[in-house]
Order: sequence, then C-alpha cells, then structure tokens
Amino acid sequence: MGRYIGPVCRLCRRVGEKLMLKGERCESAKCAIEKKAAASGPRGRGGRRPPKYSDYGLRLREKQKARYSYGVLERQFRRTFAEAEKAAGMTGETLAQLLERRLDNTVYRLGYAESRSQARQLVRHGHVMVNGRKVDIPSFIVKPGDAVTWKESSVNKALYNRAMERIEAKVIPSWLSLDKTNLSGRVLSLPVVEEITTKFDKKMVVEHYSR
Ligand code: SF4
Repeated sequence: MGRYIGPVCRLCRRVGEKLMLKGERCESAKCAIEKKAAASGPRGRGGRRPPKYSDYGLRLREKQKARYSYGVLERQFRRTFAEAEKAAGMTGETLAQLLERRLDNTVYRLGYAESRSQARQLVRHGHVMVNGRKVDIPSFIVKPGDAVTWKESSVNKALYNRAMERIEAKVIPSWLSLDKTNLSGRVLSLPVVEEITTKFDKKMVVEHYSR
C-alpha cells in the first residue's frame, strides 16, 4: 500500500482524536475535530455519542494513531516494531523512542518545520545534514551526539527564515539542544519516554502485533 495522499484531517477523524498533523492550523478553531465537537454539542446532552470499539478495534486504533502521527507506512511501522522487539527493554517504550529518533521527527522537534510532513520534505529535498553530511532519508535514526543542522546553501532560504520566525516560541524536548541563533541542533540523549508528546497506548500496540 502506498503513502496516504488524501486530506490529513481525515486521519484525525478516523481515530477521533487530534493528531496535530497540520502545524499551526491544529491549534486554531479551523481544526476539523474542533469544528465537529462544536457542531455536535456537549456529550450526554443530545450530542453525538463516541463510537464503540471492539477490543481489536481499540488496539488497532492505538497502532493507527502512532502510525498516522509519525507518517509511517504499515510495512515500515512493522519493521520498526520488529526492531523494538529485538532490542533489550520494554518493546513499547523502545518503539516510541525509535519513532521519535527518526530524522524527520527530530527535524520537526527541533522546530525546523511546522509539521512532520513538512519535516519529511525538508529531509527528502536535501536541506538537512547529520554530522556535516547530507542525509535525505526521513527514516534515518539519530543517536546521542549527532549534530542535526541545515545545509549551508539552505540557510536564509524561505523555509529557514520561516523556522527562524517561529523558533522563539518553540519548546525543545530535553533530549535535544538547539542553538537558536543559527538553528543548529544536537541530540543529547535517547528520548525520554515520559516526555514524548505523541500520545498512543504502547501496551495496546504491542498487544496488537502479538495477537
Ligand atoms: Fe488533525 Fe490538525 Fe486537521 Fe485538526 S487541523 S483535524 S489536529 S490535522
């Protein structure tokens, strides 16, 4: 199955939650989920009842939430899960860390891009360097000590300048550091699981693949 190219808000509607796939729009009243909530009224007072899921449906939904949030295809997600299963430690937590450590996500967390899909484009188009070398593979896994910077010729281009405008307000997670004067980032450690803001039930994802 190829990459999903339909409207991304539909993915949020499918799982019934805000997955924050569109950058600033997700924080505004234009968000499709917010609009739907406003239109259907308060729950329990004539409003729309939340859908009922089977156990399988609940586990599938958690897996889809993770997959849609990080923009990962099913095959790639399974590969990442298999890698997490092989590693020492809790599979669910390792899976969350591996997804966080993807280069496209790291670029997003550093504030170089407004959304993960924009981050993926930045990487694919060769604007990002890891330890001084161009890396154009969004699924590349970063490790502690890696420097994640802009390609010299991309500095001062439109996307870089837009990132500069947003950067003051950006909260950088503790596993990364960023020099905001020149948008130069570094990976300090493995992602702290409790700090990962992408919410999905790791246990249910593990159960989904172990059934
Ligand atoms: Fe999801 Fe963002 Fe669209 Fe809202 S605006 S439905 S959070 S992608």
